[in-house]
Amino acid sequence: MSTATHKLIKGATGDWEMVIGLEVHAQVTSKSKLFSGASTEFGGEPNTHVSLVDAAMPGMLPVINEECVRQAVRTGLGLNAQINLRSVFDRKNYFYPDSPQGYQISQYKSPVVGEGEVTVELDGGKTATIGIERLHLEQDAAKLLHDQSPSMSFVDLNRSGVGLMEIVSKPDIRDAEQAKAYVTKLRSILRYLGTCDGDMEKGSLRADVNVSVRKPGGPLGTRCEIKNMNSINFIGQAIEYEARRQIEIIEDGGVIDQETRLYDPNKGETRSMRSKEEAHDYRYFPDPDLLPLEFSEAYVAALKAELPELPDQKKARFIAGFGLSAYDASVLVAERESADFYETVLAKLADQARDGKLAANWVINELFGRLNKEGQDITGSPVSAEQLAAIVDLIGDGTISGKIAKDLFEIVWQEGGDPRALVEARGMKQVTDLGAIEKVVDDIIAANPDKVEQAKAKPAAIQWFVGQVMKASGGKVDPKAVNVLLKTKLGI
Ligand code: ADP
Ligand code: MG
Repeated sequence: MSTATHKLIKGATGDWEMVIGLEVHAQVTSKSKLFSGASTEFGGEPNTHVSLVDAAMPGMLPVINEECVRQAVRTGLGLNAQINLRSVFDRKNYFYPDSPQGYQISQYKSPVVGEGEVTVELDGGKTATIGIERLHLEQDAAKLLHDQSPSMSFVDLNRSGVGLMEIVSKPDIRDAEQAKAYVTKLRSILRYLGTCDGDMEKGSLRADVNVSVRKPGGPLGTRCEIKNMNSINFIGQAIEYEARRQIEIIEDGGVIDQETRLYDPNKGETRSMRSKEEAHDYRYFPDPDLLPLEFSEAYVAALKAELPELPDQKKARFIAGFGLSAYDASVLVAERESADFYETVLAKLADQARDGKLAANWVINELFGRLNKEGQDITGSPVSAEQLAAIVDLIGDGTISGKIAKDLFEIVWQEGGDPRALVEARGMKQVTDLGAIEKVVDDIIAANPDKVEQAKAKPAAIQWFVGQVMKASGGKVDPKAVNVLLKTKLGI
């Protein structure tokens, strides 16, 4: 169940609560398809990655791809889910021109993975736990091409039979923010595991979004399912629209028809596609060409032992090890590449314990901030982890002030170079010899007797002097040292 507070929608009859459950289709990272040796590579010429099995020639027999199974089990483990030691492939029968078999091989009553859960990060440092109902393996469909000829549609079978993991959530999601956070987190986990590349533009990750509304805490309402969403933002928009549409109908005395709908991002609306089919319409039955999948405990244990560190664990380690805030740690672990970058910075630091948190601030605020501004991502960063670590070292050991470090960062961003050598060559070192700044301090005190009176009456006013001295020295003095010196001079 969700623990965080969530958004309610005001209707004419009072508040309404949204209930949302997601079916996410994630393409399994594997070189070949779920039941054939044909390539899964994206972007090939139409009908070049097609085996006789994928084309459903009579008499062809599917052979399970062990790698896809391994990936599904690893994903289940990453979702803290029950791994079913025995599972069964079923035929889901329906006709559609993108499915030459006339059925989809899927898993119905006995999926490979059972119940699990995902913790999602929400605004304001809150979290919610979303239950996973199941994960099953199934074949992807082919693709119809309607825009190649004025009078015909073509079919490209390259995608036919590619392995998908369908990850079904419980109806635990309570608003659009949670739904977006859930897909974001799921995608992140899959990418850490390397079981799905998460590329939504290429269709590697798509979601069917089930939405219903109810009075807060009341019985579940009838849901509509919005099909095939491949953008996290559109998922959020579709939920908001769909919930309001349903509330309006109910408040007008109508009832919700359980149906399948499509979201039109240009109009910002969902529209009806077909009335909802029921499981019995598909005449599921165990595929007679495939044996049930059976695993030993040892097989599952070995996969579990080899799992990489996942975002939640990494986050906990960053918080415990370097005192990062939960928010900063979440930002760093959200993408595997960002976490890797931060870890490389950590590894290069002269004093990790002292500067680990400072390094996080620099990665998040300066580097990510600058990359965002330029519309670049971390993999194209002009400042390397090694250079950033050197900048942080220079601040940490007192060689440069934080203010000068920003100038140095800019130089490294623009021109590259070794930060320590740049500091030497351009005379950017912080002045630590107080004797050298004493004259500056004396002059400023002498010229501003009124400010001296203020500082004596109210010691916080000393900050004005600190600012003046910093300015006069071009930011090259240590503000803490200036503070001490000023207090002595002013006798406060
Ligand atoms: P189907 O496969 O027919 O779509 P499932 O029972 O597998 O049906 O459920 C699909 C999804 O719908 C799940 O993610 C589930 O959480 C969600 N769901 C079920 N009931 C509701 C409801 N009343 N409101 C919103 N979502 C729901
Ligand atoms: Mg469904």
